[in-house]
Amino acid sequence: MDSAPPRTEGAERCLERERLLREWTRCGRRLAKLLDEHLAAVKRRKTNFTEFQEQIRLARTAEVEPCRKYYGHVNTHGCAFNG
Ligand SMILES: [Zn+2]
Repeated sequence: MDSAPPRTEGAERCLERERLLREWTRCGRRLAKLLDEHLAAVKRRKTNFTEFQEQIRLARTAEVEPCRKYYGHVNTHGCAFNG
C-alpha cells in the first residue's frame, strides 16, 4: 500500500524514489551479507546447507518486492534519473 501523493514537479528530486531505492539497497546488502556468511560457514565446514539455502531464498524473495516497488513508482511517476 502506497499512499504517497504524486506531487513532485518536473526535474525535482523525488524523495519517494530515493526512499524506495534505499529500501531496495538495504535488501541487497542483506542478501550479500548472507552469502558472505554462507561462504564463511562452508569454509569452516559448519553449515547447515538446507537452512542457508532457505535463508538465501527468503532474502532473494524479499529483494524482489522493493525492486518491483521502485520500478513501479518510477514508471507511474516518471521520476527516473531526475535526481
Ligand atoms: Zn517519484
